[in-house]
Formats: sequence, C-alpha cells, structure tokens
Amino acid sequence: MIPADRLAEHEVAIFLFHGVVEKSDYEVRNYTRKHLTHDLFRRVVEQLLAAGEPISLSQIVEHCRSGEPFPPRAFAVTFDDGFENNYSIAAPILSDYGVPASFFVTSGFIEHNSMSWIDRIEYFMEQTPRGALCLPWAEKAQRFDDRETKIALLEQVRFHAKRDPTIDLEALVSDIFSQGGLNEIECNDDPLDRKMSWDQIGELARHDLFAVGGHGHTHRIMSFLDDDDLETEISICLRLLEQKAGISTQHYSYPEGLAYCYTDRVIDVLRDRGIVCCSTAQEGTNRLNESLFELRRIAVV
Ligand SMILES: [Zn+2]
Repeated sequence: MIPADRLAEHEVAIFLFHGVVEKSDYEVRNYTRKHLTHDLFRRVVEQLLAAGEPISLSQIVEHCRSGEPFPPRAFAVTFDDGFENNYSIAAPILSDYGVPASFFVTSGFIEHNSMSWIDRIEYFMEQTPRGALCLPWAEKAQRFDDRETKIALLEQVRFHAKRDPTIDLEALVSDIFSQGGLNEIECNDDPLDRKMSWDQIGELARHDLFAVGGHGHTHRIMSFLDDDDLETEISICLRLLEQKAGISTQHYSYPEGLAYCYTDRVIDVLRDRGIVCCSTAQEGTNRLNESLFELRRIAVV
C-alpha cells in the first residue's frame, strides 16, 4: 500500500503507525509490520509531503467545527501505544520534515514499561522453536514448528482474543507460556517492546509539532468494560498524563479501535472528561462533517 495514493482532494487521511525501528530481522516478530523500518518510514513521509499537506489533529478539529475546507489532500500522522522508538526514531524524522504528529499512549504500558498481551505471545513464538498449544477456542492441541505455522497460530489468537470479551487475556498469556515451559515476560528492552518514559512523553508534548493523547490505561477494549471499569480506565490514563508528564489532553484513541470497540456510552464518558476528538482504527478518510469521535484512520503496514 502506498499511503500517498490514499490522499483525496476534500478529505483528510489520518495515518496510523505504531513504531519505527532501525531493523527488523526477527523470525516471526513484527510479521504484521506494526513497526516500519526507518528507511521505509522516511520514504512514506517524503511521499506524503510531495503529494499533500500535513495538518495536526487540533487543526482537523478546527476545520470540522468551522466548516472551513481542509487543505487539499490533507493528511495527519498518529502513533498508538507509546513505544520508545516513537521518541527516538520517528519524532526526529518528523521534526526534520516539519510534519506534525499525535502520539496516543497507554499509561499502564508507560508506568511499567510493559508489553501488550499480543506482543508477549509473539515473543513466546519467537523464543520457542516448536511445540503445541491448547487454546480455549480449539478442541485439539495445535502444533507449530516453523514461521508459517507460528504465524497461522498468532493470526488465530488475534482473531479470537480480540473479539471474545470472555477471554481473560492475562490468563491466556500465562497459560501459553506455561504450556511452552517458558518463563513469562512482562517487559523487555527490545526496540519492538520498550516504551517511552514519562519524561520523553512530556518532551514530545512540549514540541511545537507534536501532541500527546490517551489510549487507555491497560489497553482493554473499552466497550467490553462495565461502567466502573470504563471510568477507571479513562481517568487513570488522563490523570497519569497530567501528573507524570504535565499534559492536559483533549485527544484520545480507542484501543483496537474497530466498530465494536467503542459505543455511545464510551463516547459520553470521554466527552465528560474533556476529550474533543477520538481516533478509531476503522479504515478510511474523513470528510468535514465527520463525527470527531469516529475519525477513521489508515494503518500503514
Ligand atoms: Zn493500541
């Protein structure tokens, strides 16, 4: 996919990235290209700049409110989750080219430099040459012994675990590590895992080009939470951004971000907390009359 091909005259394309790394030479890890190599990222930024005009999310909010048309072929850059490589690799490139960006961080990941459940399972697959896993949705144990069978299993885990609210993701990770006889991992300083510090996040937020927003405290799917957990998830995230990095934000992105991941109830709580604009992971570009709580994005992989 060439991101610049998605730019449109009267719409804004909001691109979703997760990370940018120097190199990606793993067997299975990063098979989804969640983290682009820095050469590719630089090329994407150059192509976007040659084809369109960068704007910030705050400018998108202003255009949507005033009705003033977006600049032709406008685009915005966003990053989810809070990887350290956003600060050390992506931000300097964006700064070189004068491209604004928003960084949505998951506060629990930042507090403990912790890995998401799927990154831990990918790590397990990278570290385990072969084996078999009993998974809650399958009747029989499933073997893996090469890149192809490992990726097929990871795809299956992604499919089921992201859609079934009854699956306890922490328990799933523990169970997989114990079936493989591998010590469970919580955090890792590999470029695919390391998260930003609060100081780095504060520094990004003070940069003229950059903004920081919330992306949950635990990264759980917000529509799956009861009222109390939903309140807690949002308020801890926003409180930590304020206390640890001095950031009072109006921006948020929904963890996982697909249509079933947020509801009117979720939007009401975010609005009550002062959020004015929320990005989804629903695919597409945005017109001027878009709901600011349902901004579509295009994942760059
Ligand atoms: Zn995320």
